[in-house]
Amino acid sequence: MTGWCSWHRGEVADAIAVRVIEQTSGPGRPVYACRACCRYHRLTPIRTADAAPAGQLQRRT
Ligand SMILES: [Zn+2]
Repeated sequence: MTGWCSWHRGEVADAIAVRVIEQTSGPGRPVYACRACCRYHRLTPIRTADAAPAGQLQRRT
């Protein structure tokens, strides 16, 4: 999907939700990265439908 990559700060055609920013009210806001940044920074895609708090996404295997 078209979106904004928060890592290289540019518009991308292949935005992938990789993180969720917790907000004081309402559900977390997803943060998107492009495929290249995902690979470079080893970001793990998340599913926005069941977005978990950011703290739960920090696990590394
Ligand atoms: Zn990027």
